[in-house]
Amino acid sequence: MYNTLIQNGNVVTERGIEPLDIGIVGERIAALLTRGTAVDAQEVINASGMYVLPGAIDIHFHCRAPAYPQRGDFATETRAAAAGGVTTIFEMPISKPCCATGDVFRMRKALGQRDAYVNFALYGAPGLLDRAEIADMVQEGAIGFKIFMTAPPAGRDDEFEGLCLPDVPQLYQALQLVGETGRVCVVHAENNPLLEWHTAQLVAAGRNDIFAHGESRPPHVEALAIATLLVLNVSARTKLHIAHVSGKEPLEVIRAFQVAGASVTGETCPHYLFFNENDLARVGPYAKINPPLRMVADQEALWGGILDGSLMAVTTDHSPFTVEEKEKARTDIWRTPPGAPGVEELVLGMMDAALMGKMTINHAVNLISTNGAKRFGIYPQKGTIAVNSDADLVIYDPTQTTTIHEDMLFSQAKACDKLYAGMSFQGRVVRTLVNGNTVFVNGEVVGARGGGKFVRPLEQTLQEVE
Ligand SMILES: [Zn+2]
Repeated sequence: MYNTLIQNGNVVTERGIEPLDIGIVGERIAALLTRGTAVDAQEVINASGMYVLPGAIDIHFHCRAPAYPQRGDFATETRAAAAGGVTTIFEMPISKPCCATGDVFRMRKALGQRDAYVNFALYGAPGLLDRAEIADMVQEGAIGFKIFMTAPPAGRDDEFEGLCLPDVPQLYQALQLVGETGRVCVVHAENNPLLEWHTAQLVAAGRNDIFAHGESRPPHVEALAIATLLVLNVSARTKLHIAHVSGKEPLEVIRAFQVAGASVTGETCPHYLFFNENDLARVGPYAKINPPLRMVADQEALWGGILDGSLMAVTTDHSPFTVEEKEKARTDIWRTPPGAPGVEELVLGMMDAALMGKMTINHAVNLISTNGAKRFGIYPQKGTIAVNSDADLVIYDPTQTTTIHEDMLFSQAKACDKLYAGMSFQGRVVRTLVNGNTVFVNGEVVGARGGGKFVRPLEQTLQEVE
């Protein structure tokens, strides 16, 4: 007797795409059955003609709760995740106060447990360089740690305290401290002195347009930071993961170190794959993102990077802001906070790419789910469709088309989602299940607030890796 049976789907397992029925008991996948096997189930879902995917795991996400609820919080932004087919988010430490101590970590965990519609994990920030606080966050279940090599964005110091380490000796100490924990360290890699110098040149020349933002952080700003990090990590030996790689130069630095044997992984984001600097004039301050959108040649290089495995994940860097925050600085790009929403386009974007023949569906699923689960130690509980794995699933109809417009989105920042507005993707997220329960179906969020569970690394998996 199953609680739920998903029948007739084309199930994306690690073996390929299989005609299976999925039996769910409680929160777990209890059986993968030959299609059409006669069984009893309380609820039967017909997935005929559709793909059944492991739910996406977005390893780079910001809701920032409890800071600035007008931008969004665990409830609003995980509703958006559910609608996008993302069943687990890894929330970054930017908040007010920043998630850099055990006490703040516990406060945020309680908020997520109260509010989240999908599963969530939390990163800690190690920048206070306090071994006891770092150990406390590990004990509480930190999925990993996050460092910025830049100074905080203008006017936002309070959200970033303990997160920003532009000073190289401090960065090195943080890498060592995180290395001791065995957790993955995710780094926002841009060289701070170089970007400050470029910015000063542009400001002195009277520039404050959207294009000046990109010119203030050219590709070598990112490439130099990654090189610095990877040289330091030869002796620090932390499990490093490079956030949001935006173009060819930084990608080539990562590849060179990977060839030399460095244990480093990297991610890129759909906005770097689908857009370039030509979109800046159209979208204005809503397209101000760090690192910036780059050139067509960078897009092509990034597609190469996700195809050859140099980049193992595609993540959203979902960053909700208010229209007021984005608009008030339309005439002065330096005053606009960087970031854009995107959690509702991750699965669509990568499945569209697969359906258009850019990669296999299995490869797309690896990039948005399986690889992240493995790297951060939550596989095979998550990231795969297998017996005993959590029933975090997406039913995807490849025959429909999804055209993005504000009215269909759930993010509090949906009015800021101007990059994707009007864009069409092949396919549609028809239904999302989290822990065996349907949380989104036919355009409506039907899950329960607080239905998402806190996700921590499986200690056993970590030990096996080490
Ligand atoms: Zn981010």
